[in-house]
Amino acid sequence: MSDAYDLILIGGGSGGLACAQRAAQYGQRVLVIEPKPLGGTCVNVGCVPKKVMWNAACVAHAIEDAGEYGFAATPGAHDWNALKLRRDAYISRLNGIYEKNLEKRGIVWVRGLAEFHKPNTVMVDGHEYSAPAIVIASGGQPQVPDVPGAQLGITSDGFFALDQLPQRVAVVGSGYIAVELGCTLQALGAQVCLVVRKDYVLRDFDSMLSQALMTEMKADHIDIVTHAAVTGITLDSQGKRHLKLTDSRDLGGFDCVIWAVGRVPCTPDLHLDRVGVTTNQQGFIVTDPFQATNVAGIYAIGDVTGREALTPVAIAAGRRLSDRLFDGQVGRHLNYDLIPTVVFSHPPIGTIGLTEAAARQLHGDEVKVYHSGFVPMYHAMTARKRRAEMKLVCVGKDEKIVGLHVIGAGADEMLQGFAVAVKMGARKVDFDDTVAIHPTSAEELVTMR
Ligand code: FAD
Ligand code: NDP
Repeated sequence: MSDAYDLILIGGGSGGLACAQRAAQYGQRVLVIEPKPLGGTCVNVGCVPKKVMWNAACVAHAIEDAGEYGFAATPGAHDWNALKLRRDAYISRLNGIYEKNLEKRGIVWVRGLAEFHKPNTVMVDGHEYSAPAIVIASGGQPQVPDVPGAQLGITSDGFFALDQLPQRVAVVGSGYIAVELGCTLQALGAQVCLVVRKDYVLRDFDSMLSQALMTEMKADHIDIVTHAAVTGITLDSQGKRHLKLTDSRDLGGFDCVIWAVGRVPCTPDLHLDRVGVTTNQQGFIVTDPFQATNVAGIYAIGDVTGREALTPVAIAAGRRLSDRLFDGQVGRHLNYDLIPTVVFSHPPIGTIGLTEAAARQLHGDEVKVYHSGFVPMYHAMTARKRRAEMKLVCVGKDEKIVGLHVIGAGADEMLQGFAVAVKMGARKVDFDDTVAIHPTSAEELVTMR
């Protein structure tokens, strides 16, 4: 006999919990299956602990500048372990809040790993649970390259487990996680070497952003080694790690190596083959615009689908799916165009829409680009100068804004409001017609010539 529900969520992370709670609001009997503390990657080993560390790094930078603002503060030793304990306690509180939220809404939580058994039925530790709608929200996990000595490195999960600041760190990778962890570690006192296999970091972003970030990272004394493909890690007699590169270079003397080379979907435990759910070449679950897989009654949301791997995307897809399935909102689905995103580097990046290169490829001569680069006023007082760069990518006679890219202090908080404008189809003239807020960095976005 199986326990019967209206909806089963596989995974209690950002997407799974959002979908479950929305369905419960509509009076559905909902089951969440999750082996770990609730909240998924974002809460436990992603956005939340990362942002705490980013905030700490911002404080470190502020202490560097404090003397120039008349304070007696001098950069001093940072107690990594004390911060970690406070961070862990905060996350435990969040886990508890998530659990209470499920209880309040009458959602059942079964702790364990789900696997498919037959259509409409999953199994956890030998017990069967069935529902007409099953949503796979099992997320992803860090990828570790298959090279000798790979286990001598850690991943972002291991970064959050570190009790002490490692002194010399190699971060291998060039995406979000590589630059975020690299900048934070350096600001908190480590000596960081970023090992990039091609020529730039953040290659999918507008080139202005990746170039500007590399300049700022170098100014912060991060050693960026490009064209560096790692073929293995070895350990020397002092317990230090060495990276072997394809061109036989050896980067050595690291206390810690962090792999930040992308994430893979959590699907192997699910036994998707038993029900015939289709995955793509990388193992991500293929869905249509309505989050439906090829198997009736089985849906997938969030990172496991291989679309924009961002918390608000997983949440938005999950909520919309419940709106459609359980509230009769026919056609409701997430439009994956124009999703804003922030990279919590130092300085941060905010971006939405097409890069200049992509716009030119799509729209050719119809593209007009506005650019502004400057040293924010905060740094007028400091020896440490960190630039801001901004770009508007516009298309057509009416100069519709199809891309907006910012790097610089405050870019993280700046973007959300501008994303609303871009999503609504703002044109350059609408920005020009908006009265600036002075003195801010953001005002540059509405005063570009
Ligand atoms: P997850 O949150 O990963 O949840 C999946 C859950 O499924 C997990 O709890 C897992 O234990 C469970 N699970 C797996 N297999 C099974 C199974 N067989 N049975 C039952 N349960 C299972 N995004 C942002 O928007 N902003 C950020 O600043 C940001 N920072 C990040 C920093 C880092 C270091 C990382 C790694 C990610 C970051 N992300 C950020 C991405 C964000 O965390 C993910 O996009 C988001 O968590 C995806 O939600 P999800 O519900 O798809 O999956
Ligand atoms: P990303 O996809 O951002 O970047 C990984 C990059 O590493 C690749 O693009 C590739 O870049 C490089 N790479 C791949 N394989 C190798 C290899 N074997 N050796 C060296 N470099 C390699 O992945 P992340 O793991 O950084 O992050 C995963 C996702 O999580 C992100 O895409 C994002 O959606 C989400 N995230 C969001 C954050 C936020 O919102 N602030 C923060 C952190 C994560 P190249 O081809 O240029 O070498």
